[in-house]
Amino acid sequence: MGNRTLAIIKPDAVKRNLIGQIIKEITAAGFKIKAMKMVRLNKDSAGGFYEVHKGRPFYNNLVEFMTSGPCVPIVLEKDNAVLDFRKLIGATDPADADEGTIRKLFALSKSENVIHGSDSDDNAALEIAHFFSRKELLENYQ
Ligand code: UDP
Ligand code: MG
Repeated sequence: MGNRTLAIIKPDAVKRNLIGQIIKEITAAGFKIKAMKMVRLNKDSAGGFYEVHKGRPFYNNLVEFMTSGPCVPIVLEKDNAVLDFRKLIGATDPADADEGTIRKLFALSKSENVIHGSDSDDNAALEIAHFFSRKELLENYQ
């Protein structure tokens, strides 16, 4: 298993001033922050990021939501990063998420669910490259 994953603190969480509380949960769970920035996505960038969902009924809403304000993409490192981070964030719908997960703690709905996590090592690599240049990753290397 790879040791990196991409998280995004989504626009709902940024608007609700939850960046600090969410990062606290992430670092308390043993993830190390390797790179981080705050950006506002445009339609092309959000649409490209979620290309796999194109044609699904929630796709247009998802792109609108992800472009509605700034978000915070973060490169995280830990052994077994992808699976452990999916466990930490919980199910897509907070109503189905386990107690103590980030979505259970903070999310208000299945669409506005405060955080993204990559679902495979291959997608983690693609998603990290979507937001961070090689230079940004190397410069932040600790
Ligand atoms: N989403 C939604 N309605 C759905 C399924 C997904 O609004 O029925 C949104 C939600 O923000 C979710 C994102 O689309 O996080 C990507 O969906 P996916 O199934 O990949 O869920 P995730 O991997 O984020 O848990
Ligand atoms: Mg997904």
